[in-house]
Amino acid sequence: MLMNPVEFFRTLPKKECPECGQHMVEQAESYLMECDRCLAKREE
Ligand SMILES: [Zn+2]
Repeated sequence: MLMNPVEFFRTLPKKECPECGQHMVEQAESYLMECDRCLAKREE
Protein backbone atom coordinates (compact mmCIF):
# COMPACT_ATOMS: atom_id res chain seq x y z
CA MET A 1 0.00 0.00 0.00
CA LEU A 2 1.31 3.41 -0.92
CA MET A 3 2.04 5.93 1.77
CA ASN A 4 -0.08 9.03 1.90
CA PRO A 5 2.10 11.66 0.18
CA VAL A 6 1.35 14.18 2.90
CA GLU A 7 2.47 11.78 5.59
CA PHE A 8 5.52 10.89 3.53
CA PHE A 9 6.67 14.51 3.31
CA ARG A 10 5.94 15.11 6.97
CA THR A 11 8.37 12.37 7.92
CA LEU A 12 11.19 13.99 6.02
CA PRO A 13 13.56 16.37 7.81
CA LYS A 14 12.80 20.01 7.21
CA LYS A 15 15.31 22.02 5.29
CA GLU A 16 15.37 25.77 5.23
CA CYS A 17 16.34 27.91 2.28
CA PRO A 18 19.18 30.25 3.30
CA GLU A 19 17.95 32.82 0.82
CA CYS A 20 14.34 33.31 1.87
CA GLY A 21 14.03 31.09 4.95
CA GLN A 22 11.30 29.04 3.37
CA HIS A 23 11.04 25.48 4.57
CA MET A 24 11.65 23.03 1.82
CA VAL A 25 11.08 19.35 1.44
CA GLU A 26 14.07 17.20 0.68
CA GLN A 27 13.96 16.28 -2.95
CA ALA A 28 16.05 14.55 -5.56
CA GLU A 29 17.76 17.92 -5.99
CA SER A 30 18.59 18.07 -2.29
CA TYR A 31 22.19 18.94 -3.11
CA LEU A 32 20.85 22.35 -4.05
CA MET A 33 20.80 24.76 -1.13
CA GLU A 34 18.09 27.14 -2.24
CA CYS A 35 14.43 26.52 -2.79
CA ASP A 36 12.93 26.36 -6.25
CA ARG A 37 11.92 29.99 -6.16
CA CYS A 38 15.38 31.30 -5.34
CA LEU A 39 16.98 28.97 -7.85
CA ALA A 40 14.61 30.26 -10.50
CA LYS A 41 15.60 33.82 -9.61
CA ARG A 42 19.25 32.95 -10.05
CA GLU A 43 18.59 31.71 -13.54
CA GLU A 44 17.32 35.11 -14.58
ZN1 LIG B 1 14.37 30.44 -1.15
